[in-house]
Amino acid sequence: MPNTEQMIDTHCHLDFPDFDPDRGAVLESCCQHGVFDIIVPAVSADTWRRTREICQDRHTSLGQLRLHLALGLHPLFIDQHQPQHLSELDHLIAQHRPVAIGEIGLDFHRIGKRAVNDPDKQLAFFDKQLMIAKQHALPVIIHNRKAHDPCLSLLAQTGLSGGIIHAFNGSIQQAQRYIDLGFLLGFGGMLTFTRSRKLRELARQLPLDTIVLETDAPDMTVSAHHGERNSPAYLHFVRDTLAEIKQVSPAEVARVTTNNVRRVFALHTTDTPTD
Ligand SMILES: [Zn+2]
Repeated sequence: MPNTEQMIDTHCHLDFPDFDPDRGAVLESCCQHGVFDIIVPAVSADTWRRTREICQDRHTSLGQLRLHLALGLHPLFIDQHQPQHLSELDHLIAQHRPVAIGEIGLDFHRIGKRAVNDPDKQLAFFDKQLMIAKQHALPVIIHNRKAHDPCLSLLAQTGLSGGIIHAFNGSIQQAQRYIDLGFLLGFGGMLTFTRSRKLRELARQLPLDTIVLETDAPDMTVSAHHGERNSPAYLHFVRDTLAEIKQVSPAEVARVTTNNVRRVFALHTTDTPTD
């Protein structure tokens, strides 16, 4: 039986072409599996329009599902970002009032011997987007790999009101520093793999009121669908794993994590386009 306690997928790239063949069916499946709100973070200026349109076209046969737009310039696409995209972002926020600025951040992960992709440009774009978020009093959705120290110091300097550290996999000390800055920590499909021992231990130690659920679909799928496209409808696998780790009911995980999101994100009032 599906669990009726409503959940929020705080990170799903529903606008990616991977969902073009069956986006409607995926959304209906979400409703059947307790996911009624999905935050859709954009990744680059050339996709903003598309992401926005998909979030506006949110109707399903069940009619209750809400898609929430976030706008930002993702560090993995740093080569594509131009300075004028920042002023465009500023303008679009005023016009469309997304629920957050994201997906933004730093990716200092090296593949083999390859150097980090333009760390100075990444830092500059991240910093400027944090300033934009602050000016518009919006939370941020952060992607971070191998760059927690520069990320934490920029966040502390900017003095934002908070957001989500997506797919968090740092140390408990780093987690605590993010929490102290008003951030929530996102856990997704990786948690469902028994081999994710360090991540599971981290989830066990963190208070439930600092955690939010996410899928990062179409990427990072859950163990039950290993090798397949991920789906926001699989969020219950993350909920159930977290419930097991924390020795509470799945309904409790859903209730607390949903409240956590609503503390930081104004999901019902800010996603209505003004044009
Ligand atoms: Zn993402």
